[in-house]
Amino acid sequence: MKRGMRDAVVVGGGVVGAACALALAKLGLDVALVEAREPSLWNATQRDLRVYAFAPDNAALLDALGTWDSVRDARAEPYRRMRVWDAAGGGELAIDADALGRSELGWIVEHALLVDRLWAALPAAGVESSCPEKVESLAQDERGVRLGLDSGRSIEARIAIAADGGESALRGLANIAVDALNHAQRGVVAYVETALPHEGTAWQRFLPGGPLAFLPCGDGLSSIVWSLPNDEAARVLALDDAAFGEELTNAFEARLGAARVASKRAAFPLRRQLASSQRAGRVLLVGDAAHVVHPLAGQGVNLGLRDVGGLRDSIAGAHARRLAWDSPHRLQRWARQRRSENALSAHAFDAINRIYSSDDMLPTLLRGHALGLAGRLPPIGRALWRHAAGK
Ligand SMILES: Cc1cc2nc3c(=O)[nH]c(=O)nc-3n(C[C@H](O)[C@H](O)[C@H](O)COP(=O)(O)OP(=O)(O)OC[C@H]3O[C@@H](n4cnc5c(N)ncnc54)[C@H](O)[C@@H]3O)c2cc1C
Repeated sequence: MKRGMRDAVVVGGGVVGAACALALAKLGLDVALVEAREPSLWNATQRDLRVYAFAPDNAALLDALGTWDSVRDARAEPYRRMRVWDAAGGGELAIDADALGRSELGWIVEHALLVDRLWAALPAAGVESSCPEKVESLAQDERGVRLGLDSGRSIEARIAIAADGGESALRGLANIAVDALNHAQRGVVAYVETALPHEGTAWQRFLPGGPLAFLPCGDGLSSIVWSLPNDEAARVLALDDAAFGEELTNAFEARLGAARVASKRAAFPLRRQLASSQRAGRVLLVGDAAHVVHPLAGQGVNLGLRDVGGLRDSIAGAHARRLAWDSPHRLQRWARQRRSENALSAHAFDAINRIYSSDDMLPTLLRGHALGLAGRLPPIGRALWRHAAGK
């Protein structure tokens, strides 16, 4: 059956794309979702190695979409404290939920669980998904877009949203350029058991090769993200479990006692990538399609969901005032605001990574004091957390 013009077609059904399709459908828009691969179902007995430090504003977004309770009830570990320190010495940055009057700073959540719960909510919201299917062509004019799919089908809609990740095909079809910087680092991820309890704390130590984070998970496990130069990452991945655990324990100054690997290990390439714009005509970019950031602040998925929250608010605002929700002016305002916040975050994380991965004398002298100072001055600690939490 050939359908007429839809309101929106979302390309890519990862966390950001699925949340976007759901958010727009809940505003009453007619939404289609195109995804290249069958989404993996979450399995409670198999922890996903990709985990996020999920910020409170995004938990509120998922709550508004009716999916947060089922995520939290399945497995989301609240974290109440953050501790950040530098291998070169100096102070420690400490942020505590208590001091901020909150019961938690955020939650550690598995990628696959988020995808699973968001996809489960799509049919009832009226989102029609096409999967597996890829976008192959794009045509657009001032009224809308026409996407050609690899099955030979096409979809017409008033706007298209590229949520198809860092290698976004739709971004390329819309001729939006990217500025990319390869960090020549990889993020090594695994679950580990530690001799001491993690205390519901997200820990991060800056080392010359890159930051090492221990994120608190259920059953006493911690999820590690260890950023290392490519050759070092390959070397530690090739170690046996005992040798890997020993190196990891040393790299973390045994802060939680001896660490023992409790899962497979994997690694993903780290880069900073920014699209020159988050809009070209009636094509909008969200999530990794628009910005890929260093994982040191755990903001990858959080920034993407803020793109979605901003778009939802813009459309809801237009509905409330009976204005055109997809006017070029409105779409452009959203794109400009999101691009500027995302660019700021990407460059800030990149700068922190470079300063703290340096062996040079001056940054080393300055940075430890900077962390200690930031930790001792409550307003700075609060401001840092507020930024991470999207306040
Ligand atoms: C292996 C790995 C590990 C990571 N680990 C961490 C971590 O520990 N912490 C952290 O903060 N961040 C991590 N990240 C980054 C984080 O996953 C991303 O920031 C986040 O997933 C972005 O979400 P997204 O929905 O925009 O993109 P993605 O999750 O990349 O989703 C894009 C979706 O689009 C689909 N797609 C792609 N091309 C097409 C097409 N042509 N047509 C239709 N569909 C298409 C894909 O199948 C996918 O489902 C990791 C990334 C990777 C790749």
